[in-house]
Formats: sequence, C-alpha cells, structure tokens
Amino acid sequence: MNNLFRVFGRFVPPYRGQMVLNILFNLLSTILSLFSFAAIIPVLQILFGLTSVDTEQVDLAQVEGLQNMIAALRTNLYCLLDEQIALRGASVVLLWLGLFLVFMTGLKCGTSWLANYFMVPIRTGVLRDLRQQLYNKVLSLPMGYFTEARRGDIISRMTNDVGEVEGSIMSALDILFKDPIMILVYLTTLLLISWQLTLFVLLLMPIAIFFIGRIGRSLKKASTKGQEQNAEILSSIDETLLGLRVVKGFNAQDKLRVRFTNLINATRATFNRINRRYYLAHPLSEFLGTALIAIILWFGGLLILSENATIDASTFIYYLVIFYSIINPSKDLSRAAYGIRRGMASLERIDAVLNTPSNILEPANPQPLQLFQTEIRFEHVHFGYQPDREVLTDIDLVIPKGKTVALVGQSGSGKTTLTDLVPRFYDPLQGRITLDGTDIKRFATHDLRDLMGIVCQEPILFNDTVYNNITFGVDTSQPAPNGMSWDEAVEQAARIANAHEFIAAMPEGYQTVIGDRGSRLSGGQRQRLSIARAILKNPPVLILDEATSALDSESEKLVQEALEHLMTQRTTLVVAHRLSTIKHADLICVMHEGHIVEQGTHEQLIALNGYYTKLVQMQK
Ligand code: ADP
Repeated sequence: MNNLFRVFGRFVPPYRGQMVLNILFNLLSTILSLFSFAAIIPVLQILFGLTSVDTEQVDLAQVEGLQNMIAALRTNLYCLLDEQIALRGASVVLLWLGLFLVFMTGLKCGTSWLANYFMVPIRTGVLRDLRQQLYNKVLSLPMGYFTEARRGDIISRMTNDVGEVEGSIMSALDILFKDPIMILVYLTTLLLISWQLTLFVLLLMPIAIFFIGRIGRSLKKASTKGQEQNAEILSSIDETLLGLRVVKGFNAQDKLRVRFTNLINATRATFNRINRRYYLAHPLSEFLGTALIAIILWFGGLLILSENATIDASTFIYYLVIFYSIINPSKDLSRAAYGIRRGMASLERIDAVLNTPSNILEPANPQPLQLFQTEIRFEHVHFGYQPDREVLTDIDLVIPKGKTVALVGQSGSGKTTLTDLVPRFYDPLQGRITLDGTDIKRFATHDLRDLMGIVCQEPILFNDTVYNNITFGVDTSQPAPNGMSWDEAVEQAARIANAHEFIAAMPEGYQTVIGDRGSRLSGGQRQRLSIARAILKNPPVLILDEATSALDSESEKLVQEALEHLMTQRTTLVVAHRLSTIKHADLICVMHEGHIVEQGTHEQLIALNGYYTKLVQMQK
C-alpha cells in the first residue's frame, strides 16, 4: 500500500485536474447505476403481483434518519405505481420502467466514458514522463556507466520495463480511481437496505482477502526475473545485429541459435509461471464471490422467511444485484493488486537507472571559460576503470596551445583512456588536469567540451541527413561564421574534409539520409563526414583517435589530407596507430602499460633507440 501511495505521489501530481474529473465522473456513474438497478424492484413487484406494499411489515418507527426517508419515498413511489397500473394497465407501466432503465443506463455509460476520457491523458502522460526522464538520464550518465551496463539491458529497461509499468501499474491506477468508489457507494447502499445482512457479509470478507493476498506475494520476484530475461534477449539481439558479419563469417549461426533458443525458452517458462499466477486472481475472486452469494442467499432467505422480516423479497433481489456489482470491482481490484506487484518489479529496474549518481560532478560555482590561451597539463594523473587496477600511472604531460601531441604505443597501453580524461568523460583518481593553470573540474563540463572537437576511431553518425550530421555540433539557430549561410559553411567544411565530391554525387546531395550509423557510406566516407563535422565546429582543441580500420590507399590519402587540414592551427591530441602520419608532430609520447615511457620529437626518439624505434621497426 505504501508503495502505491509513493507511485501516486510521484506520477500523478502534474495531472491533478484530470484526476479530479476522473474521480468525479466515476462517482456520478456509480450513483447513476444504483438508480438504473432500482428500476428492478417495481418490475419484480408487478411481475410477481406484489403491487401493494405491506407498509406494516416495515415499522417506520423503528428505523431512523436516511433509512426512514428512503422508506417513505418508496411507499410514495409504490402508491404512484399502484395508481398508474390501475389507470393505464401493468404493461404500460412496465414499458415506462423499461424506458427509465434505458435512460439511466445511458447516463451511467456516458459518465463512465467521460471518466475514462480523463483517465487516458493521465496514463499516456505518465508513460511519456517516464520515457523522458529515462532518456534525459541516459544523456547525462557518465561514460563509465555504459561500459558496465550492457546496452541491451538499458534499452530493455527503457522499453520493456516502461511498457510493463504502463500495462500493470497504470491500468491498476485506472482501477484504483474507480473501484474503491464503486465499492464504497454500493456498500453504503447495502447497509441502508439491510444492515444485518451486510454486517454478516462484511464478517466473511477477510477470509476472501486472505486467500487472494497469498498468491500475489511471489509475483514480484518472478517478475523481476522475467524482466531480467527480457533484457538478456534484447542484449542478445543487439549483439547479433551488430556482429552479423562476424557471425556469418565464422559460421556461428548454430551456436547463437542454440544460445538464443535456451534464453527464450527460459524466459517463456518464467512468464508462464507469472501469468498463470496472475490469471488466478480473476477466477479465484469469482469463485469466492459466488460462494459469498450462496451464503447470502441462505442468510437473506432466513431473514425474509423469519417472523418479523426486515426485508421483502424484491428488495432482497435488488440487494443481490448490487452485491453482485461489488464482485466485479473487487475482482478487478485484486487483479490490480497483482498487477502492481508485477509493475513494481519493473519500476525498481527503471529507478535503478534513474537513481544512478553521476560521478562526474559539476562544480557549484563554475569558473567562466571563454578562451583557451596557453596549455593543457596533466599533473601526476592516475586512473583506472576499477579502483584496484590502474590503467594510467603517474602521467605528466603538457599540451601547449597550437601544438600537436601524438600518443603512440601498443594497443591496450592506455592511449584512448588518456584522451578521454581531457573532456572529463572520466575523472582522474589521483592528480589533476589543468587548462591554463585551472583544474578542469572547476569549469562547467559544457563549457569545457565546447572547446573541443572529437573525432573517434569509429565515426559516430546518426540516421539523418548528411547536412544534419555535419551540423551536429553547432547551433544552427545562430548565424554561421564569417557572414556565410549555414549551407555555405557546411559545404566549405565538407570541401576541406574532402567530402564534398561524394556528397554532391549522392541522390539528394546534402539532404540524403545516410542510414543507420551511416551504413550506406564506405568507411572512408564516414570518417570524412565526421571530420567535416569537427571542421565546422572549429574547436580550438582537437582530440583525434586515428582510425585503425584499414582503408584503401586512395581513401586513406583523402582522409589523411582532411585530417591535416583539420589539425593546422589547432591544439591537437592525437592517438596514432600509423606512425608515418605523426612524424611531424611537435611531441610524440610513447605509452607502455599506462606509463609514458618516452617523449620527444620523431628524431629525438629515433636517436634514443628505445620503445619508439622498436615500434617503428615493427610497422615497417
Ligand atoms: P589503447 O587506446 O592504448 O589501446 P585503452 O585506453 O583503450 O588503450 O585501454 C587501456 C586499458 O584499459 C586496457 O587494458 C583496457 O582493457 C582497459 N579498458 C579500456 N576501456 C575500459 C573500460 N571501459 N572499462 C574497463 N577497462 C577498460
């Protein structure tokens, strides 16, 4: 129950207005349904020929207040009916009663639709808010999070789990706004009709609740497991799609098929268990409800047949009809309780993402950062992805403004990691990195990253037009630089990046959509596009992770040229895989197992005849 109020308090406030309307119409609809049912009493009276009411049977002096009023009203109504039957005949009166029933039911259904009308925007709104929160969170989460959590798992939380919350908790909200009202109104009516009978029923209720409650308990645990398995399925699909080339190339389809089959079978078993249990809610409460009715029939019968009956037969039938109407909302309510258990499991998985703290902290009073003036400096920097395993040890490095610093070394020596520290994708565990003498932690990360252009090994492109991919890093609502239009600026950047020609040859030029991750482009073309993007952003600092993927020599020449254009006049930190490309760098740092083991120009390092010389010889 506590959980439920927390969920309410968390999601519903923005939709308070609609919620009030929803509850109002639910209340109206329930009260109207009482009136439509009430038409049954006189109909039965007429059919069974019990037209005149035995007022002596109900001793008015004994009942008080509201009950008294109702009794008086009823007597008057019956007198009116008697009169009308005498005047126009029973069939006409029956027709009138029928029409009354239809009219009231029409009103009831209308208000019930209106109640749902206002419920719908709450449900869709909560769903939208949850998706929005998750997406915003994913954008702000530190890089480290995504290496630990698998992508498929996050996608699953953002889709499957959000869907589960919508399907269970939100549809439960629907029921929770409606059914308690119905139950309360009906129960009050039952008490007014016959408090003895109702009291008797209420004594039986806890037994039913006990049975229903027992089954729900294990549901949440099973649901957590189910959602984890769903996430694994998505991860597996994601991996397969990304690695399809390798899968086919290594003829590994069968292996993957077996793995996937096992996974989906296990998931199926879990969901069989969950759903079988879930579907128990409905029949169980139906069975218990019917058992209750049987008991009421017996007890009510006794009351009617007893010497001083407090209820007549047709009112008793009305009583039964209303009682039966309680059973449905109670059934739904017990199902909703099960649904909430299932949904809570998903909500917890969503919250685990939402509550992940960002370990890249923004400074409380960031220092303004306009220009980069002198240098970026690493001072005794230590870093490791796990605290117990250092990937970078005691790094001291100066990157002066306007110079090109290259990092070389075996794969796994920590080059990429080192470059990731500059835009604060990770923070050093010890030591600090300064920009013009100020610790970069004191700048707003947004300002810091604004200074930088990043070109990675694997060019990251989006399924959008060429134009939008190039303008990705700039704000096109501002005027373009040097008095150009943005179209001109984009074309200029593309020309410098040796990309204009192939773009112009595409069917729709700059407006061509390049497919998922730029799948419709060759490797070299993708790289040149991402270089054009960096050129257009025109950042003072450039972080470049040279592509390792082999390009044909023509392509490579074009990319290399583009990179050289990009690097001129800029402070560049480049991870070099082909030593030939960085011969002219101002400083070359050789990395080995997380240390910078040699520093100097190409000539100086060759003269040292150490690690660098070995690397050069290996690449020959
Ligand atoms: P390089 O760029 O020189 O090839 P990296 O900086 O990519 O080297 O990797 C340095 C070391 O850090 C390697 O041992 C690698 O296994 C480890 N490493 C890289 N990225 C991660 C990560 N996200 N989580 C944990 N370890 C990582």
